[in-house]
Amino acid sequence: MWSFVVNLELRSRVPMIQDGQTPNLLTFDIEGFIEASHDSLDVPGDYVSSHRQQEEIEVNTRAILELLAAAEQRATFFVLGRIARDLPALVRQIVGAGHELACHSLQHRRLYHFTAGEVRSFLSEAKHVLEDVSGQRVQGFRAPDFSITKTNAWTFDILRDLGFTYDSSVYPTSLHDAYGIGDFPRAPFRMVNGLVEFPMSTVRILGANVPFGGGGYLRVYPLALTRWLCRHANRAGVPVIVYFHPSEMGRIVLPIRELGPVRRFRTYAGMAGAGDKLRVLLRSFHFIRMVDYLDRYPVQELAA
Ligand SMILES: [Zn+2]
Repeated sequence: MWSFVVNLELRSRVPMIQDGQTPNLLTFDIEGFIEASHDSLDVPGDYVSSHRQQEEIEVNTRAILELLAAAEQRATFFVLGRIARDLPALVRQIVGAGHELACHSLQHRRLYHFTAGEVRSFLSEAKHVLEDVSGQRVQGFRAPDFSITKTNAWTFDILRDLGFTYDSSVYPTSLHDAYGIGDFPRAPFRMVNGLVEFPMSTVRILGANVPFGGGGYLRVYPLALTRWLCRHANRAGVPVIVYFHPSEMGRIVLPIRELGPVRRFRTYAGMAGAGDKLRVLLRSFHFIRMVDYLDRYPVQELAA
């Protein structure tokens, strides 16, 4: 455990890729809007409906698949194990379209609320369900709400033990109240335990790592700013990780009326235009799947 913290000076070095050739990584976290809100919001019982939620996931994910097909781009889909169990046809459709299937845990609960034994047990179950349903090996993992922090860094060794090749769960920032490791490397690298980490995208401003590229950041930042930040990272040879959720396609997402103004802004701001932003990014940048990045590009090795 803690093997990843060795040689943190690595954070300033990045894999060298020729200018203009840096690919970017498009990822989708496949989850229902309400099930993904339980750790951050007090969701009134009226809003919980598994039937409505399945419909929301299916309709929006199929719309995402159509967008990707039209743009001839491929992506990595981090899917909840419980969704693979409840909606196996949808998972097979994702894989059948040539996208990569990866794991987003079993249920959408933050990992740092659980013991190592519990995490090992439900991540193992999630990986098996995803592999059984898809018939493919699952190599990648992303924790719900980026919930691998310094307090549960032992999760990296569990991921390696379970046969994952890479993780993409860490936001290298100190600016968020629920997640982040401020002094974490900001470009893909291999940990001492062998696991590759794809840290979420940040830009350095006035000494702070400011997140961009997905979720609320993509929804709230002007599109021109996101595109500029992507090019800025690419010029330094760093791939940008874009992440997006089915609910951000905008269909069948409930407005929770009981939220206060700040929480309402964080939850819903920019929701209406998010699908259009994704369309423009698909036209502007070349994306590859995370497994393909591992095959084709070098990642910085950590020397023990
Ligand atoms: Zn999620």
